[in-house]
Amino acid sequence: MKTPKSEKDKSEKETEKTAVSNSAPPPNFIRNIIEDDLKTGKYGSKVVTTRFPPEPNGYLHIGHAKSICLNFGFAIEYKGRCHLRFDDTNPSKEDVEYVDSIKADVRWLGFDWGEHLHYASDYFGQLYDYAAQLIKDGKAYIDSLSADEIREYRGTLTEPGKDSPYRNRSVAENLDLFERMKAGEFKDGAHVLRAKIDMASPNLLMRDPTLYRIRKVSHHRTGDKWCIYPMYDFTHCISDSIEEITHSICTLEFENNRPLYDWVLDQLRVYHPQQIEFARLNLTYTVLSKRKLIELVTGGFVSGWDDPRMPTISGLRRRGYTPEAIRNFCERIGVAKRDSTVDMALLEYCIREDLNKKAQRVMAVLHPLRVVIVNYPENQVEELDAVNNPENPNAGTRKVPFSRVLYIEQEDFREHPPKKFFRLSPGKEVRLRYAYFIKCEEVIKDENSGEIVELRCSYDPATRGGDAPDGRKVKATLHWVSASHAVKAEVRLYDYLFSKANPADEKESPDWKSCLNPNSLDRLTECRLEPSLAQAKPGERYQFERMGYFCADSDSDQSSLIFNRTVTLRDEWAKIEKGQSKK
Ligand code: ATP
Ligand code: MG
Repeated sequence: MKTPKSEKDKSEKETEKTAVSNSAPPPNFIRNIIEDDLKTGKYGSKVVTTRFPPEPNGYLHIGHAKSICLNFGFAIEYKGRCHLRFDDTNPSKEDVEYVDSIKADVRWLGFDWGEHLHYASDYFGQLYDYAAQLIKDGKAYIDSLSADEIREYRGTLTEPGKDSPYRNRSVAENLDLFERMKAGEFKDGAHVLRAKIDMASPNLLMRDPTLYRIRKVSHHRTGDKWCIYPMYDFTHCISDSIEEITHSICTLEFENNRPLYDWVLDQLRVYHPQQIEFARLNLTYTVLSKRKLIELVTGGFVSGWDDPRMPTISGLRRRGYTPEAIRNFCERIGVAKRDSTVDMALLEYCIREDLNKKAQRVMAVLHPLRVVIVNYPENQVEELDAVNNPENPNAGTRKVPFSRVLYIEQEDFREHPPKKFFRLSPGKEVRLRYAYFIKCEEVIKDENSGEIVELRCSYDPATRGGDAPDGRKVKATLHWVSASHAVKAEVRLYDYLFSKANPADEKESPDWKSCLNPNSLDRLTECRLEPSLAQAKPGERYQFERMGYFCADSDSDQSSLIFNRTVTLRDEWAKIEKGQSKK
């Protein structure tokens, strides 16, 4: 079907605006390290082994996606392996629900760990033996100071720590106490196992860090088998070593833990992977800390982990994001050594770019205004051709019913139009997309409220398809639905979850929850959609012409359709980028 030039609607203009140059990803310092290691044969074989080690104490978020894309991405690029390993050493906060959601999210993002699904808890036996080896070598001791005393003895950034009075216990006594800790003879907190390093080290983490503590709680995988649990710093490096990880990539906050990572592996004289740190992802208008996200869920500030306003993978999925858009976003932001905050508009740009190619166009009226075409025959229905996706010539066309009573968008009519308002107003003519020119003849108002309830319009039968044979022009093309054919739906519009760009910045906003955006959700319950959407299945994505990209919600079904707006058509990122290039 021929689309007249004048019929360039918002969605098509959108395409032009999003055609921002696809610049190459910035140089990646981790890739350089891997390339060097492969050249020098540092790890013998050519296989690059990475891992993604989440703690199963929450759902994954877009920051984790950066780490997942990086780790699994390198494994794919170098034909190596990437392991999914649950860092489950803190039994009280962990849950099978989280393990399952993490696996589902990694798979949905498009990655596969193959046979390499691991749990740090699988290594509890080996970790215990390694701890005993450290004791035998005089590199670890049982300390019986209380937690408060240990803190006091640790010193500060400016003052060195003090040795614990238990630091010089004999190997035999240490071994005996360690075994009895394991056997459950002591209460929580009575003793801990500590590495014997240096209480005066400028790095506080090296001041005899705790390696094991007593926790008499059940573990979601090992049950009540253990009542002592290894600490993260001890577990993590040994797990990497056992799995023969070559490049152990983590975020910058672990930079100070690296000397301890290396110390443990050096003392044990085992296979020694290298830890490499990169800057974590921060995004504007949201928070990416699991502690804060848990608070939002348990405090009822959102409907759950998969609330479409959440930056979680499950929230983004429900909102309508695609794995491709998220992977593309992660590639564009690149990896660096310095922390920075990425503009949410870039994430939105990536999803628009993807959906522009994929999403079928449909017509949906979010705030309906009734229009009666007075000169259109009462019982006539015409099936008009509509283009499914102007970006995809193979997407074809569909039929849209046109009849005497229609709905248009309330905002497309003004009784007293301001200057440059080219849409419908009394006496003015506009085009109905794929249909006819119509002209507003009369405005009907509610007698009591004065509210506009209906427009009476005439149509020009000669303009079928959207063009006038006499060459006359109109300045606006409106979307519409046929009142008797349309399906009713609830549509949820979202705004940012926070009204401040950096809600996590404690200097700017000491109480991060005080900047939650009270208008982040707008539920429209009277929307009318073209009938082709009656069968929409949860997860299906569409462009509602002129209104944005939408996705059928997971709770949507044929008896009550619910759509989430994924993103508007407005392209903030293109504007920002244009602005930056002008500077
Ligand atoms: P939190 O501190 O919010 O609890 P975490 O870093 O402890 O998050 P984990 O689930 O333990 O979260 O981390 C799994 C992996 O994901 C780690 O390697 C971590 O470095 C990485 N990761 C977590 N958050 C981000 C982020 N914002 N950007 C990039 N990587 C991240
Ligand atoms: Mg953690």
